[in-house]
Amino acid sequence: MFPRGRYLVALGRSWHPEEFTCSQCKAVLEEGGFFEERGSVYCTKCHDNRYAPNCAKCKKKITGEIMHALKMTYHVQCFKCAACKNPIRNQAFYMEEGEPYCERVP
Ligand SMILES: [Zn+2]
Ligand SMILES: [Zn+2]
Ligand SMILES: [Zn+2]
Repeated sequence: MFPRGRYLVALGRSWHPEEFTCSQCKAVLEEGGFFEERGSVYCTKCHDNRYAPNCAKCKKKITGEIMHALKMTYHVQCFKCAACKNPIRNQAFYMEEGEPYCERVP
């Protein structure tokens, strides 16, 4: 018999809600608000951190808005015009000596 109380069912077993915590930051997980990975569970934040791609420029993890360019991923702030320093985002750009430039008319 299960003792009474609120239970979460996850990974094929039931858990006391207070025992069902993120493997990394130990935050108490909510039903539906976790990710499973090889028998461990992670909160959304830690999961995003683990799987976030690295920025090709500064090598840090990208959370939030991602810029895809030249088959690489960048922070939006890291992929900017070498001349005017504005983020290029989804504007047209061209490459010159390995640096991106926006197509703003000078
Ligand atoms: Zn966590
Ligand atoms: Zn970056
Ligand atoms: Zn520019």
